[in-house]
Amino acid sequence: MFQALLLTQSDDRRTHAALAELDESQLPAGDVLVQVSHSTLNYKDGLAITGKAPVVRTWPMVPGIDFAGTVIESADTRYRAGDAVLLNGWGVGETHWGGLAQKARVKADWLLPLPAGMTAERAMAIGTAGYTAMLCVMALQAQGVTPDRGPVLVTGANGGVGSIAIALLSRAGFTVHASTGRLGEAAHLKSLGAAEVIDRATLSAPGKPLQKERWAAAVDSVGSHTLANVCASLHYGGVVAACGLAQGMDFPATVAPFILRGVTLAGVDSVMAPYARRAEAWSRLAAELPAEVLAGNTATIALGDAPAVAARLLAGQVRGRVVVDVGR
Ligand code: NDP
Repeated sequence: MFQALLLTQSDDRRTHAALAELDESQLPAGDVLVQVSHSTLNYKDGLAITGKAPVVRTWPMVPGIDFAGTVIESADTRYRAGDAVLLNGWGVGETHWGGLAQKARVKADWLLPLPAGMTAERAMAIGTAGYTAMLCVMALQAQGVTPDRGPVLVTGANGGVGSIAIALLSRAGFTVHASTGRLGEAAHLKSLGAAEVIDRATLSAPGKPLQKERWAAAVDSVGSHTLANVCASLHYGGVVAACGLAQGMDFPATVAPFILRGVTLAGVDSVMAPYARRAEAWSRLAAELPAEVLAGNTATIALGDAPAVAARLLAGQVRGRVVVDVGR
């Protein structure tokens, strides 16, 4: 038997989250059985656990789009008992039981070996949010964005994606401007590497199609009017890596920045990203993100705390990253 957070749906379509004792035989099909040691809470996990958006596709569901742990048994030759592994996305925690449990059974194709020198806890302090931040940095660099082009804006700065994007970009030599609704956290954002902190209210309302050119590039996890205003404020030839919808899924923009300033909108998806891109992102995260940056940006909780913290995450009250120690 092992412990898991189990989500069920009642007749009135409300989601209920509770700790449950499960048997290994109840786990879904897969070729690798993993002893999970740590998982994490991302925005999507918050949506799943609270039921605020239809993230969960089959019921009951063990949420958790990420986990790290050790292989117990494997029917696939790429993994052996004792191997340290991690997983992000692939619909885990949405259509296939996920990481907020002490055990998981998944397809070998979905796993990555834990990068050398990285602990499971550190991998989950990064989690999908940090891995997506790295995918955004890679997207900007693939478009030729270099530090000499000018400052880079990061929106949703105190969130998981935003906070790690700030740390990665500043360590890669970029001048980073951070947009936040929590100006009281400016000192923390500067400690991560932000050179300037701006009020997100200056970006969140409808704006003009073309505005003053302020940034060479941006990482946006917010969407909606914020993304539209960011596009309208990029330098000629600017690039925005768009990965999120914390303000909204809408994109009330015009084509003006694209056709008059040659702006590039680079979409970033972490869930179905191919293996080679994931492996590159994780190897760069291991090399470029110092452990002490993560330590100051991460809170660790027990499995039973996940429902309460998920609600606070969606309310924008969590700073940085949350690791779930599933053995606690
Ligand atoms: P978090 O909840 O950790 O952070 C989101 C941040 O966005 C908040 O901390 C807040 O930052 C800001 N924010 C919240 N509400 C609003 C609002 N109404 N208007 C403007 N800003 C707001 O989430 P994550 O960092 O984990 O994820 C961020 C987004 O990225 C989510 O939409 C998530 O679904 C998406 N995502 C997408 C992925 C992909 O594969 N494309 C992968 C991972 C995440 P502050 O307080 O500083 O203003």
